[in-house]
Amino acid sequence: MTPEQVRSAAAGRIIFNRQGGEAGALAAYRALFRTGDASGLRQAFGAFPLPEIRTVQREAGPEGEVVKFTLRVPGVTLGMGEPARRIEDLRTESVLIPMIGKRRERTYTLCVSSQIGCAMGCTFCETAQMGLLRNLTADEIVAQWFGAAFGLGLRPANIVFMGMGEPMDNLDNVLDAVAVLKDHNGPSVPVSKITISTVGRVDGIRRLGERLHEPGWRRLGLAVSLNAPNDEVRSRIMPVNRRWSLAELRAALLDFPMYGGSKLCVEYVLIPGVNDAPSHAREIADFVTPLDEHYARSTRRASPRCVVNLIPYNPRRDSPWPAPDEARVAEFLRRLTELGVYAKRRRTKGRELMGACGQLGSAHIRGRSLVPLAVAGLVRDR
Ligand code: SF4
Repeated sequence: MTPEQVRSAAAGRIIFNRQGGEAGALAAYRALFRTGDASGLRQAFGAFPLPEIRTVQREAGPEGEVVKFTLRVPGVTLGMGEPARRIEDLRTESVLIPMIGKRRERTYTLCVSSQIGCAMGCTFCETAQMGLLRNLTADEIVAQWFGAAFGLGLRPANIVFMGMGEPMDNLDNVLDAVAVLKDHNGPSVPVSKITISTVGRVDGIRRLGERLHEPGWRRLGLAVSLNAPNDEVRSRIMPVNRRWSLAELRAALLDFPMYGGSKLCVEYVLIPGVNDAPSHAREIADFVTPLDEHYARSTRRASPRCVVNLIPYNPRRDSPWPAPDEARVAEFLRRLTELGVYAKRRRTKGRELMGACGQLGSAHIRGRSLVPLAVAGLVRDR
């Protein structure tokens, strides 16, 4: 709920910190997000259950512990294309990723899920093995921030929508969640510290672009999973490319409003023997460079506006491909840099606990798909 919703719903039913009416409702809302105190909102709404952390896994790394945690959410009844059955034990999966900054202070980036499972079917991704079970509500997305901040005591500095699910597939709830996360009466995460990632759903990119024209939204970050140098490879490993080609993706990105110091993150999962040939680096440069030049003109900033994050493939369960070796990653990074692309290697964190990029997903509900891509209208039958 946004503060406005709480104010109108709770104003007549609450006295908090000796304040009544709308002021009391707002004070109770602030207390929830500042200290985790839900007592004020319980006065107004009766039961006000707080997010319930079910599992916590930790993996030590050079910059601190990577923490993967799950929250229990209501189940779903499956029906489409299979006998109806109910799955009760659904969980969001979130990962807290530590980072040591220039001043040696440790901050955490929270990677949140926007769906349980995913319908996009990327062949290198563990989540895709689950199919899509359901969208998360805005509350269930915000609950992941709450779980990190008050369940684990680790208040995130950054939020990335890169956990389970395709955010553009659930954009209304994602935008409602961002509205709460960035609200100064709520978690108050600066909008420039929130990034929405997409597999390349062009319709969603265009809708998100419209929202960025509104005050308070301009610095919201966008990340695009490119993962392939051309349509042939991309359609093979990312079915979404059969619906929206690279040319359509680039057109949408050229129209995407870029304000001030914002950057476009281009994610590239490097898979040995699939998308790591020397010629592929040239094709990536051909895709990224015109975008970079266009954003530099529109923001009047000379520094690179597109950053390619090179992510060494983290093998999913039963993966047909291994992780790339370090020398291959370094070589590909060198080629991109020589071609004038601003590229960084994403350090692998959380691979052992299946918390690294592309590794989220519950093994016990794998192997089925609630919404086949063709049925969802995302892939033309071939
Ligand atoms: S990579 Fe992202 S969009 Fe693709 S299947 Fe996995 S979660 Fe979905």
